[in-house]
Amino acid sequence: MWEDKAFERFKEQVLRDGPHLGADDRFHFQCHRNLSCFNHCCHDVNIFLTPYDIVRMKRGLGITSGEFLDRYCIIPFSKTMRYPVVLLRMREEAQLACPFLEEPDGCSIYENRPWSCRTYPLGRAAPPKKAGTEAPAFYFLIREDFCCGLGESREWRVAEWLDDQGVTEYEAQGRSFQELVQDERLGTGKSLTPEQMDMLFMVLYDLDKFRRFVFETRFLRKFEVAEDRVEAIRADDVELMKFGFDWLRFALWQEPTLEVRAEVAAVIKAAMEARPGAQAAGTTPSNLSDQKPAGKQDESG
Ligand code: SF4
Ligand code: SF4
Repeated sequence: MWEDKAFERFKEQVLRDGPHLGADDRFHFQCHRNLSCFNHCCHDVNIFLTPYDIVRMKRGLGITSGEFLDRYCIIPFSKTMRYPVVLLRMREEAQLACPFLEEPDGCSIYENRPWSCRTYPLGRAAPPKKAGTEAPAFYFLIREDFCCGLGESREWRVAEWLDDQGVTEYEAQGRSFQELVQDERLGTGKSLTPEQMDMLFMVLYDLDKFRRFVFETRFLRKFEVAEDRVEAIRADDVELMKFGFDWLRFALWQEPTLEVRAEVAAVIKAAMEARPGAQAAGTTPSNLSDQKPAGKQDESG
């Protein structure tokens, strides 16, 4: 059962006490099917998914993001959460095995396994990022008693391990997500509204729904988006994911990551000026994001 306070305590402890491993630090590890612990680590484990994890897995499985979330995920909620998170749902009826574990062979989605499965036995931690400061993420060694692989003789450099496991691509594709969730403006001081949480959830995790939001509402009539980018986000999940981060930064923090069409800006300005007691006229995210995707508003849970 996922419990956010315990997880927060774990994060604090890692940030405070955990040895920070650099790219050239070394550790011993080898995982193979002859070990008595083989597949043990794919049971009863909290696997948080990133947006890119979901893109890779749902694409590999040939299903939509909504189907993926429904079938394989839990979406915990608590009032203290700064942003929505998604975890893989372990199978209660199978000793809490990961839904993608196929005994005795192992991971059935190995090519598209999530970021955290790739880095193991390394974990990644990142302190909250304050304005104008650097908050570099770091790796640390997760020492689980049951993991015999840590007693094997094969030695790795951290950078070599990450490269071998294909983490480099996940880090590149996950950078915008990490920057967003590390940003101290996210949910500090004033909590996000339920509407903002819903928007974040859709854009981060339910890309097929976000695509409908972009193409089946007036969204593209409000924003200036180059034709080639429109075609890219229509066809390519990764391009849509990147576009989503631009939209979130615009909607949450009014960053100039999207350009409002001049005619729309003029209409909004006039409407604002006509309001009695209006403080300032301008285009705000709240008057540009007043639509839900056509139908299926509640499919993401
Ligand atoms: S517990 Fe460690 S060595 Fe065993 S299967 Fe999992 S990662 Fe490999
Ligand atoms: S996704 Fe694959 S590697 Fe990760 S826990 Fe599930 S079965 Fe194991």
